[in-house]
Amino acid sequence: MFKALLLTKTDDAGLAANLSELDESQLPAGEVLVQVAHSTLNYKDALAITGKAPVVRSYPMVPGIDFAGTVLESSDVRYKKGDAVLLNGWGVGEAHWGGLAQKARVKADWLVPLPAGLSTEQAMAIGTAGYTAMLCVMRLQAHGVTPDQGPVLVTGANGGVGSIAIALLSRLGFTVHASTGRLNEVEHLKTLGASELVDRSTLNAPGKPLQKERWAAAVDSVGSHTLANVCASVRYGGVVAACGLAQGMDFPATVAPFILRGVTLAGVDSVMSPYARRVEAWGRLASELPADVLAGNTAVMGLAGVAKAAVRLLEGQVRGRVVVDVNR
Ligand code: NDP
Repeated sequence: MFKALLLTKTDDAGLAANLSELDESQLPAGEVLVQVAHSTLNYKDALAITGKAPVVRSYPMVPGIDFAGTVLESSDVRYKKGDAVLLNGWGVGEAHWGGLAQKARVKADWLVPLPAGLSTEQAMAIGTAGYTAMLCVMRLQAHGVTPDQGPVLVTGANGGVGSIAIALLSRLGFTVHASTGRLNEVEHLKTLGASELVDRSTLNAPGKPLQKERWAAAVDSVGSHTLANVCASVRYGGVVAACGLAQGMDFPATVAPFILRGVTLAGVDSVMSPYARRVEAWGRLASELPADVLAGNTAVMGLAGVAKAAVRLLEGQVRGRVVVDVNR
């Protein structure tokens, strides 16, 4: 038996999230059985656990879109008992039982070896959000964005994606401006590496199609009017990596920034990104993020606290990353 957070439909078509004892035989099919050490609470997990958006495709479901742990059993030659592994994406925690449990059985194709130098807790202090931040940084770099071109804006700065994006960009030598609704977190955001704060209320209402050119590039985890205003405010030839919808899924913009300023809007998806890119991104995360920065950006809790934390996360009250020690 092992402990897991289990999402079930209630008789009145509501959703229940209960800490449950499950049997290994209940786990879905897969080549690799993993003893989970740490999982996390991402925005998507919070949507799944609260039922605020239709993230979960079938019930009962163990949520948790990422985890790190040790292989217990493997029928795939790439993994053997004792190997340290991590997983993020591939619909785990949405369509296939996920990481908010002490055990998970998954496809070998979905796993990545835990990069040298990272503990399971540190890997999950990065988690899907940090991994996505790295994919955004890689997209900016692939489009030729360099520190000498000017400041880079990060929106949703206190969130999981935003906070790690700030840390990564500043350590690569970029001047980082952080857009946030929590201006009182100035010290934390400056410690992460932001040099200037932007009040998110200046970006999240309808704005003009073209605005003053302010940033060379941007990482946006917010979407909606914020993304539209960011596109309207990046400099000629600038690049915006868009990965999130914390404000909304809509994109109320015009083509003006794209056809008059040559702006590039680069979409970033973490769920289906291929193995080689995963290994590259995780390798870079392991070497580019200092341990003290990660620790200062992370709260650790047990499985029992996750359901309540999910509500707080969607209310925008969680700062940085939430790691779940599934054995606590
Ligand atoms: P968090 O909840 O940790 O952070 C989101 C942040 O956005 C908040 O902390 C807040 O920052 C800001 N925010 C929240 N609500 C609003 C609003 N109404 N208007 C403007 N800003 C707002 O989530 P994550 O960082 O984990 O994820 C961020 C987004 O990225 C989510 O939409 C998530 O679904 C998406 N995502 C996408 C992935 C992909 O594969 N494309 C992978 C991972 C995440 P502050 O308080 O500083 O203003």
